[in-house]
Amino acid sequence: MKEKGILTVVSGFSGSGKGTIMKGLLEKYQDYALSISCTTRNPRCGEEHGKEYFFVSQEEFEKMIDKEDLIEYANYVGNYYGTPKSYVEEQLESGKDVILEIEMVGAIKVKEKFPDTLLLFITPPSVSELKKRLIGRGTETKEVIEDRIKRAAEEAAIMDKYDYLIVNDDLEDAIEEVHSIIKNERRRCFRNQDFIEKIKEELKGDF
Ligand code: ADP
Ligand code: 5GP
Repeated sequence: MKEKGILTVVSGFSGSGKGTIMKGLLEKYQDYALSISCTTRNPRCGEEHGKEYFFVSQEEFEKMIDKEDLIEYANYVGNYYGTPKSYVEEQLESGKDVILEIEMVGAIKVKEKFPDTLLLFITPPSVSELKKRLIGRGTETKEVIEDRIKRAAEEAAIMDKYDYLIVNDDLEDAIEEVHSIIKNERRRCFRNQDFIEKIKEELKGDF
């Protein structure tokens, strides 16, 4: 039987570099399936429907909630965001390691539903660097940036629920860290129960 993939959730303050790290990770390694979320927020310049997100209306989103098509969803600074169920389940079953890049309320819900989920938290080296990156990205108004910084303060309160903290200072180092943490996760004993049972059985035999 094919080994099931590992479900990893990546969260971090807006502007910490999650998207940039995910892009680099997927370019460098073919091992991962990145789930594409649905959102009611407007596309940023250059974003495409079905690439960064599935951009949907509030009505469409609420229909998905009703039909239980989402693994989780949350409201983030005035918009809905949610993870479509079918893609994640298919990819995990086929043995791919699946990554969800989602905020913390959703992350906690995923962990409750799937306790084996690996939780990674990305942070910039400092808050001044965070502000610099958010302003430098140039995709949000000053008001939205302020709301996102406020949200970051709330998120910081539950950072310690995560399994690993990745400080995104040097981008390449951060990409490598994410990759090696997920690879090492495969070697956790609780993920190798079939192998452990097999060895135990074999040791029962005569020599
Ligand atoms: P998030 O997805 O967490 O909101 P982004 O990936 O959009 O963040 O990154 C926010 C900004 O910071 C972008 O302009 C990106 O180019 C920049 N950035 C990301 N990682 C680094 C890094 N290690 N060093 C400097 N700038 C970075
Ligand atoms: P952005 O608007 O910057 O693309 O995303 C805002 C926040 O929503 C980020 O923290 C991002 O990780 C999170 N997010 C993106 N997709 C989902 C999702 O499907 N579910 C949840 N709960 N959060 C999401």
